[in-house]
Amino acid sequence: MPLQLKFVTSAKRHTDLPDSPCEIALVGRSNVGKSSLINALANRRQLAKVSNTPGRTQLLNLFTLPAGGTVMDLPGYGYAKVPGREKAGWQRMIEDYLIEREPLVLVFVLVDGEIGPTKLDVQMLDWLRQSDVPHTVVATKLDKVKPSKLATRKKELAKGCGLDTGDIMWVSASKGTGVEALAAHVNMLLTP
Ligand code: GDP
Repeated sequence: MPLQLKFVTSAKRHTDLPDSPCEIALVGRSNVGKSSLINALANRRQLAKVSNTPGRTQLLNLFTLPAGGTVMDLPGYGYAKVPGREKAGWQRMIEDYLIEREPLVLVFVLVDGEIGPTKLDVQMLDWLRQSDVPHTVVATKLDKVKPSKLATRKKELAKGCGLDTGDIMWVSASKGTGVEALAAHVNMLLTP
């Protein structure tokens, strides 16, 4: 079953967001495939805009499910063309949200299945651990990994994240692999 996500609002600060009974968040490096995954989860082509200019979506984008639970699409981190000061502002926005947003139950950290984790992904994971923010890793773009390389890639990616291979969910937004399982997981987390 696709997630029946509906866009609610965009905000610059988490304090401007409406209340929610429970919320999950998606975070990841620009271009990791976050918008594609949100669209795949909802089975809608344009729900989260697949951006041609990575890093443009600089706001906290909130979606809701029919039962009231919410899904936060956090801005992508680490877009090289963004100047330092602006970058610091985003980081603050994301970190404040992650620490202070009360309904938040779990953060899905998206990591590029073909090339990840990058340095920034590792930094994010370290920060989440240190800050005691519950999180889990989702590896994207499964279809880009050659089947002959998959077992090794899964081990490498998990090791890079400091996790076991079994801790990581793998998805392909293009092919739909793993998307139903992830949608079911999100539904379970957000069912009051
Ligand atoms: P975002 O910046 O994290 O929102 O990433 P996008 O969803 O905009 O995707 C970035 C690029 O990766 C786009 O060119 C997508 O078509 C591509 N992409 C996203 N998901 C997948 C996937 O599952 N498989 C493949 N092959 N490409 C993907």
